[in-house]
Amino acid sequence: MADIIQLLPDSVANQIAAGEVVQRPASAVKELMENALDAGAKSIKLIVKDAGKTLIQVIDNGCGMSETDARMSFERHATSKIRKADDLFAIRTMGFRGEALASIAAIAQVELKTKRIGDELGVRIEIEGSELKAQEVCSTPEGTSFSIKNLFYNVPARRNFLKTDSVELRHIIDEFQRVAIPNPEIEFTFHHNNTEIFNLPAGNLKQRLMGVFGNSYNSRLVPVEENTDIVKIKGFVIKPEFSKRTRGEQFFFLNKRFIKNSYLHHAVQSAFEQLLPSDSFASYFLMLDVNPKTIDINIHPTKTEVKFEDEKAIYAFLRSTIKKSLGQFNIAPSLDFDQEAHLYNMPLKPVDGIIKQPTIKVDPTYNPFKTENFSKEKELSNRANWEKMYTRHANNQLEFEIKKEETEQQSISADWDGDLHESAPKITYQLHNKYILSHIKTGFMVIDQQGAHERILYERVMESFEKNKSASQQELFPKTIELNTADFTLVKELQTEINAIGFDISEFGKNTFVIHGIPADTSDCDSVTLLEGLIERYKQNLIELKSNKRENLARAMAHSMAIKSGKYLTQEEMSTIIDELFACKMPYSTPSGKATITTFSLEDLDRRFNK
Ligand code: ADP
Ligand code: MG
Repeated sequence: MADIIQLLPDSVANQIAAGEVVQRPASAVKELMENALDAGAKSIKLIVKDAGKTLIQVIDNGCGMSETDARMSFERHATSKIRKADDLFAIRTMGFRGEALASIAAIAQVELKTKRIGDELGVRIEIEGSELKAQEVCSTPEGTSFSIKNLFYNVPARRNFLKTDSVELRHIIDEFQRVAIPNPEIEFTFHHNNTEIFNLPAGNLKQRLMGVFGNSYNSRLVPVEENTDIVKIKGFVIKPEFSKRTRGEQFFFLNKRFIKNSYLHHAVQSAFEQLLPSDSFASYFLMLDVNPKTIDINIHPTKTEVKFEDEKAIYAFLRSTIKKSLGQFNIAPSLDFDQEAHLYNMPLKPVDGIIKQPTIKVDPTYNPFKTENFSKEKELSNRANWEKMYTRHANNQLEFEIKKEETEQQSISADWDGDLHESAPKITYQLHNKYILSHIKTGFMVIDQQGAHERILYERVMESFEKNKSASQQELFPKTIELNTADFTLVKELQTEINAIGFDISEFGKNTFVIHGIPADTSDCDSVTLLEGLIERYKQNLIELKSNKRENLARAMAHSMAIKSGKYLTQEEMSTIIDELFACKMPYSTPSGKATITTFSLEDLDRRFNK
């Protein structure tokens, strides 16, 4: 019988390998961006069309390639990054398998333009399904531009397997963030279908995180830093009160490369012990730096899982470092109460009538390991807190008083402004222009006014989509709004939905809309500001995504129109909010999953008074 074993043709071998390296557009994005990093680029641009299904392009200003290297880069196992097996253990660059470009070229139409720094001319190479279509000299900027068109065009099974654009885009955004966050000294931009999704100038890690997640992160981040022989740890954790019920943002970067590691995740999560509500997750952005010789990163093709030599030691360092940071920023509770304690310590009205921003008290000497002094310290600070509470009350009469006999009747009485309310079942009280306190049968409940209103508006907007109509009020003097091209395209795409919410907008020449009407109930809003806020929020949601157009728009609308924390509410307004909230399908959380209501039972209170 004849021999039957044959070597596979390269193109087939590459297609098979491609299945491992490129599962979806996001994997190609990752490979191209990592190559750009390895090339020493200071600026990396990502351009994507149709969630990467039509085009993925990465333009860098890195070292570029010679004509021969450019051609070679598409060969399998072609890499400039390792020469011998030993190098594998000292690797600090991103790639090294020399497979990515060969794989990508096997399953797409690829164009490479590259020029080395100082060269007169560059080279352009076109490859389709591993087949060279063109190679020529060309003029091109220094660095490399790599375009992948029609990914999986010749592997229909894979192409059909791709998810909707919004899901694939979400994956691309994830990969983009994983590269952009640990490299803040490099400038990144990201355009999707002509919309700028990210524009991240070079800066430090904090600025980068704000660029990626929004400026609100400025006040949410707690710095973390520790150097030991085994591991250097640097980065930020998010203050516990901003933790998320969904997984939140968890980023470990090992030697600047994104990794997943459930063991180390546990170390962080446990450092937050008792600071987080039980169903919340810690969010963190932590850069770990270890000697590459002590890790094995080559155990998984997509290289997000890593084996450490000193896993246990790193676990312990990580946990203690984060505990220390949380402690220094006085985030760890100093009272023996549980988390809700701070609620009770708040005076209902500040002594001087002026509401101040809470400040973070830093205790640089705090050391969580000084266990022998710990309980003593805690005792002292408990006493100090207690004394503070006592003097405040003494000076200012009891601002908030729960009288025993009244508690027995299950009613709350607020004693302020000389206006003594009788125990009335529907009594509401606004706390710090932020929370609504209301009496319930078993005790009292606290409603977050902004979150509650977001829930109400969100459901109202979703309903208006169903009915395709919503109350609109016409503007006496229609205003025009001029947008940048990206935003203009976005609004055009959303015009039907925006009008369904109650706006009345129409196109008015280049990049301009005219606003004839705005949703009813928004009377004290400026129409331009309102629409601008909506677009901004929509774009931000687009990044956080997970949702479709309507859902996103409803959330954006709810967010930008909701009454904010800090707004004084009348009794009537509070009652309306409570009534409307409880008429909602899902009153207990905001559209983004934060709690809107929390309740306190009389037993809770009794326990606090050691009854
Ligand atoms: P690897 O990154 O594992 O080496 P790739 O297939 O991703 O393998 O790339 C092959 C080679 O092509 C790289 O080793 C590098 O020398 C070269 N290369 C790829 N992308 C770029 C780029 N953007 N700039 C300069 N050289 C590049
Ligand atoms: Mg590579």
